[in-house]
Amino acid sequence: MFEVKDIRETALGENPVIERMSQYNHEQLLFCNDNATGLKAIIAVHNTTLGPALGGTRMWAYNNELEALNDVLRLSRGMTYKNSISGLNLGGGKAVIIGDARKNKNEALMRRFGKFVNSLGGKYITAEDVGISTADMSWVNMETNHVVGLPGKSGDPSPVTAYGVYMGMKAAAKVQFGSDSLAGKKIAVQGVGHVGEYLVAHLAKEGAKVFISDIHEDTLKRVASTYKAEVVGLDDIYTIDMDIYAPCALGATVNDDTLAKLKCSIIAGAANNQLKNEAVHGEVVRDKGILYIPDFMINAGGVINCYAEVKGFTAEWAMSKAEEIYNRTLSIVNRSNESKMPTYKIANTMAEERINAIGNIKLPM
Ligand code: NAD
Repeated sequence: MFEVKDIRETALGENPVIERMSQYNHEQLLFCNDNATGLKAIIAVHNTTLGPALGGTRMWAYNNELEALNDVLRLSRGMTYKNSISGLNLGGGKAVIIGDARKNKNEALMRRFGKFVNSLGGKYITAEDVGISTADMSWVNMETNHVVGLPGKSGDPSPVTAYGVYMGMKAAAKVQFGSDSLAGKKIAVQGVGHVGEYLVAHLAKEGAKVFISDIHEDTLKRVASTYKAEVVGLDDIYTIDMDIYAPCALGATVNDDTLAKLKCSIIAGAANNQLKNEAVHGEVVRDKGILYIPDFMINAGGVINCYAEVKGFTAEWAMSKAEEIYNRTLSIVNRSNESKMPTYKIANTMAEERINAIGNIKLPM
């Protein structure tokens, strides 16, 4: 029976790798090093019951290896749940490259990484994530076919991700405000990168009052002027008067500190692992009357887009599949209300139910 217990953040201790893999129920980790290109990466294959492990590659200047390890373990586990709850025949995996994407990325490094992906023989299929573009994926593709999100194919998954988040946000608004219209709603979008900007475009078009924050001043200025959004400071994003908080940067922004400040009715955004500690903060948000829309369910548009590429389905198929996030959000909320369990737990249960059901299929002789 596949099941992941509530994971509480613990010190990594003296056995940070296999002990933590076992805690998260991971199948395999591949540590990659290449002195010539400076590549340092970790590929995590979490679970392949439903199919090959698909999940993006993130490039980030982690402070240390343990931070990178923790990130890849959590992100790959999230992909298993995301792919399952979205009805895709894919397992969960993820890769992290340790380094500054604006300084350390080049053709040789990405191709070397592609060779490592290839060495897994298709058990892991990669795509873009934070710090990685579709052009970078073309370099990876020179060394392996186990890559999606390529230019000229399904392309940048961010518009589909943003559309799915927008759909889930509207469903959440229907539950909390009685109408799914976001017109006039005050929405704080943290991070206006690939997904954040497309989300801001949907929100601005619908007449929402949009606030934005980002660490890159140039991006911030451009997005603010294009969509008439109001810029707020990196910390002020948690304290402003808002209806909806949409984390679209990095994870763990829903934590003890921010929950003491946030006064929103809904948390719905694209970032992975939004709850710093889901077993703790998933309960706190509910106690505060905030409706949290589980991250791996609402941000599945990107992987849906990748799946369309794997299967040869059209872009229209991907958009209509992302639209299902609206009804899936309502199902999770209904189940949560009926069972009095927090939404994060319901989403986990729904994902595990499918993995167990499919994993138990016995082929007739
Ligand atoms: P991105 O790198 O294009 O954008 C992230 C943005 O967040 C950048 O502009 C960055 O400057 C900003 N940022 C970083 N730290 C910040 C902070 N402390 N405060 C405010 N802004 C900050 O990445 P993306 O592709 O837009 O992805 C955003 C999030 O959504 C990530 O967590 C990613 O894992 C998740 N996600 C993305 C996709 C996709 O299709 N791209 C799919 C699913 C989930």
